[in-house]
Amino acid sequence: MSIENFVRAMPKAELHVHLEGVWRKDTLLMIADENDARANIKHFDTWVKLLDNPDFNRIDQITRTVSQWLQYGEDLTRIVYDLGVALSKQNVRYAEVSVMPTLYSHMGLTLEAMLEALNDGRDRVLRGWGVQMAWILTFPRDDARKADELLRFAGTIAAKRAGVVAIGLAGRENPQPVTQFERVFKNAEKKDILRVPHAGDVFGVNGTLDTLKLLHPNRIIEGVGAADAPDALQILKDNRVPLDVSMALALCMNEYSNYAAYPLRQIVDAGVTLLLSSDMPSYFKTTLSDEYLAAVEHSGLTINELQDVALNAVRESFMPDDLQQTMLTEFAQEYTRLSAEHLQTA
Ligand SMILES: [Zn+2]
Repeated sequence: MSIENFVRAMPKAELHVHLEGVWRKDTLLMIADENDARANIKHFDTWVKLLDNPDFNRIDQITRTVSQWLQYGEDLTRIVYDLGVALSKQNVRYAEVSVMPTLYSHMGLTLEAMLEALNDGRDRVLRGWGVQMAWILTFPRDDARKADELLRFAGTIAAKRAGVVAIGLAGRENPQPVTQFERVFKNAEKKDILRVPHAGDVFGVNGTLDTLKLLHPNRIIEGVGAADAPDALQILKDNRVPLDVSMALALCMNEYSNYAAYPLRQIVDAGVTLLLSSDMPSYFKTTLSDEYLAAVEHSGLTINELQDVALNAVRESFMPDDLQQTMLTEFAQEYTRLSAEHLQTA
C-alpha cells in the first residue's frame, strides 16, 4: 500500500503554473551562453546563484532578469518543451500555463510570433509526451500600460486559435492598487474573456477581497488570507470562484511555517472549490505531485478528497466541453484502477 505511488501515478491537470517558473538550469545556462548573456548581463553569476537559492521577495526581479537571457523564439520553444517534459513526468495531461509577454518584449516579437514559438514547443510536447497545454496571457501589476494591448489581442480569433484561454494578473500587489485594473477586467468580462488574477500577496485578505469585488475573477490565484477569513470563504463559495493555491509558495513566502499549518481543511470544509497548483515549481522546489502528496500527508485530506481536488482542475479548466467530459471520465476510471493497485491491501 503506497499513497505516494498512487499520488504520483494519478493523471492530473494543472491550472496554475508560470512558464517563467519551470526551468531546467542547464537549459537556461545553455541558452544564456548561446546568447552571450554572461558578457551582457551585469552580475550574471549572482543571478545564476539566485536560481538555486532565490530571495522570494525579489522573485519578480529574478524572473525579469533571467527572461533577458532568452533572445529568440526558439529559446521560448525550448523552455516550453522542458515544461512539457516536467509535466509529463508527473502524469499531468493538461496544463493552463501563465505566460507574461512583457518579459520577452526585448525580443521584438509580435504577440502572434511569440505564440507561434510557444506553440512550436507545445506541439512537440503533445506529440512526444501527450501533454496538452493552453495559455493564460498575464500582465504584470507594475506595467499596467500593457494590459489594454494584451486584452485586445486575447479577444481575437487568432489568439483563441493559438490556445489563449484567459488573461492573468501577476506580480507583487503593492505597485498598483486593484482599482487600477478594474476597467481592463470589466472590459474583459464584457468580451467574455476569462480572468485569472493573483491576489493577496502583499495586502493579504483585503487584497483578496478587493480582487473578488472589483475584478470578478473566474478563478483566483493564491487568495492569501482567504482560508483564515470566513467572510472571504463565503464570498468564494457564493460566487463559485475556485481558489487556486500553491502551498509551497505560501511556505516560501513565510505565510505559514509548514505544510501542516496551511489551512487547506478550512477551504474544503467551507465548501469552496479548491485547486492545488505548483505555481513556480523550479523556484519553490516542488511539483504538483508533491503538493498533492502534502495535502494528504500533512493537511489531512483523505484520498477521496484529493481525488475530488484533482478532478476540480478538470472541471474548472477552460478546456473545451467535450475534452473536459472525456478527461473527467478517464481520470475517474484511472483513479479507481490505481486505487486497487496501490491502496488496497491484498
Ligand atoms: Zn502564480
